[in-house]
Amino acid sequence: MILIDGKKAAAELRAELKQEVTELREKHNKVPGLTVILIGDLTPSQIYVRNKEKSANEVGLKSEVIKYPESVEEKTVLDKIKELNSDETVSGILVQLPLPKHINKQKVIETIDPSKDVDGFHPMNVGNLSSGYESSVPCTPLGCYLLIKKFEPNLNGKKAVVVGRSNLNGKPMTQLLLKENCTVTITHSKTKDLKAECLEADIIVAAVGIPELVRGDWVKKDAIVIDVGINKTDKGIVGDVHFDEVSKNAKAITPVPGGVGPMTIACLLKNTIDCFKRSQI
Ligand code: NAP
Repeated sequence: MILIDGKKAAAELRAELKQEVTELREKHNKVPGLTVILIGDLTPSQIYVRNKEKSANEVGLKSEVIKYPESVEEKTVLDKIKELNSDETVSGILVQLPLPKHINKQKVIETIDPSKDVDGFHPMNVGNLSSGYESSVPCTPLGCYLLIKKFEPNLNGKKAVVVGRSNLNGKPMTQLLLKENCTVTITHSKTKDLKAECLEADIIVAAVGIPELVRGDWVKKDAIVIDVGINKTDKGIVGDVHFDEVSKNAKAITPVPGGVGPMTIACLLKNTIDCFKRSQI
C-alpha cells in the first residue's frame, strides 16, 4: 500500500506557486491578491483564516483579512464585497463559512464577482464546471483531484465512487472525475447498498462526515482511496475511511490528518493565482 502524502504534495504545489508568483511579479509588476472576510469569532474559522493568510504570504501573494463582529449587518458585508469586486488589487475574494444565521449565504456567494470567486461556489462557476468550461473549482475537491492525478495520471475508464453529494465536495468531485473520463457513481445517505457500490470502485472519494464509515471489506484490492473526512472523536481526528482496515486492501490511500487537508489551502492559493492570470488576458 502507498500512502498518498498530502503534506508533501501541498508543499510541492506551494513551491511551484511561489515560483509562479515571482514570474507574474516580473511580468506584470504586481502580484495576485487574496481577501478573506471573516465574520464572528468561531475558533475553527479563525484558525482556518489564519492558516490561509500565512500560506498566502508564504507564496508571495498580497493577502488581507477583513473581520466583522457576529452582529454585522448583511448589507455591510454585501457592500464590502461589491467594493472588493471593483478593486483591481484584489484577485480573489473568500467569505469564510459558516455565516451567522441572519446573513444569507447564497446572497453572499452570488454577490462575489464570479471571476474573483476563489471558492468556486458562485452558480456561474458551478455551471461552468459542470459544462466542462474553465472555472474556479472548490478547493477541497480540486486538492483531491490533484492528488489522484499525481498518483495515477491516466484515469480513462476508471470506475469512481464518490461518497457524499455536497455542493462543497461530492458534486464538484464528480464533475472533475467525469472530465477525466471516469465512470462515476455518486452516492449519498439514501443509497441502498453503499458497500456494494464501493466494492466496484477503482477510485473511492469519501466526503461524508461519518467517522470511519468506509470499512476494509468495502474496498477492492488495488483501489485508490481518498479520505476527505475530518471528524473529531475520542481517539482524535479521524477520516470517513477506516484507515487501518482499508490500508490493508487499497493500492493507495490518503491519511487523516496529512492527506486532503493540506491540499485544500494550497488549492485556494492556486485558485487566486489562476483568477489573477485570467484577469490579465
Ligand atoms: P455534508 O455537506 O454534511 O455532506 C455529507 C454528504 O454525505 C451528504 O451528501 C450526505 O447525503 C452524505 N451521507 C451522509 N450519511 C451518509 C451515509 N450513511 N452513507 C452515504 N452518504 C452519506 O459534508 P461535507 O461538507 O461534504 O463534508 C464531508 C466531510 O469532509 C466532513 O467530515 C468535513 O469535515 C470534511 N471536510 C474536509 C475538508 C478538507 O479540507 N479536508 C474540507 C471540507 C470538508 P445526503 O445528501 O443524502 O444528506
